[in-house]
Amino acid sequence: MSDNVEKYIKRETKESISNKISEKFVDAGLEKIRACINCGTCTGGCPSGRRTAYRTRVAIRKALTGDESVLRDIDIWLCSTCYYCYERCPRNIPVTDMIIKLRNIAVEEGFILDAHFGLADKIFYETGHGVPANGEGNKKWRDLRESYDLPPLPPTVHSYPEAVEECKTLMKEVGFRDLMDNAKELKEERAKEQEKEEEKADE
Ligand code: SF4
Ligand code: SF4
Repeated sequence: MSDNVEKYIKRETKESISNKISEKFVDAGLEKIRACINCGTCTGGCPSGRRTAYRTRVAIRKALTGDESVLRDIDIWLCSTCYYCYERCPRNIPVTDMIIKLRNIAVEEGFILDAHFGLADKIFYETGHGVPANGEGNKKWRDLRESYDLPPLPPTVHSYPEAVEECKTLMKEVGFRDLMDNAKELKEERAKEQEKEEEKADE
């Protein structure tokens, strides 16, 4: 290559690529990510990207190159799983499934958002519902149900509260409880590390 070309074309060579993401993608049958041509069709049609800084193509690119910063990126939580990108990708890549997988890996690595963690760890685990309709503060949901001639509480653990413990047992059996406990531990470790760094910076 001539010196002139070297002057204008910058090449970035990755010495080592993290295989944490790619291994999990392969395990989940999502190795099709390797067919991505970085065309940006997914970004172009993404309704979430129209209103935020979220760029689907960038998330896919980072996953493909093993850039683990994508797991810390709040952007992957902005996908509304509308499947628009999935339908339009010229390489038939299941883009939405890949974003969901990235979120799963992020949770395993303790990068779950505080709001999601609170909902999963406390509300869902304790009540068996993501959006509970029972309790003092949730009368509006019961009223809404009744306005459609439905019983105020659905035929779930709300109607059979004794089944909440069974739901918790199920959540433990499938590893959900461990996942949340692990995420909590990792989040706390990171918060402590950050605190130490801030203290150092103030010295
Ligand atoms: S549309 Fe498909 S091929 Fe194009 S950048 Fe997105 S994932 Fe890659
Ligand atoms: S599924 Fe997610 S990434 Fe794909 S177009 Fe919809 S919001 Fe965007």
